Amino acid sequence: MMKSNDENKFYQNDDSDIKPDENGNFYWKCFVCGAVLKQKEKPEYCPLCQKEETFFFKIDPETENIRRNL
Ligand SMILES: [Zn+2]
Repeated sequence: MMKSNDENKFYQNDDSDIKPDENGNFYWKCFVCGAVLKQKEKPEYCPLCQKEETFFFKIDPETENIRRNL
């Protein structure tokens, strides 16, 4: 049981220390097409490639190179 949890955590990005911005928004990145969405909840679908939420992971704007000027 313990081992299974650890493995899960290994495969999921460890995003537990990522803080939202001042408005409570997180940055969510689609790893299929690379789209970055800024919102509070995990996106249900990617607006670009239509993939579902399992393809999103939370990124930290402080450490991730976000193309802010898009
Ligand atoms: Zn996408």
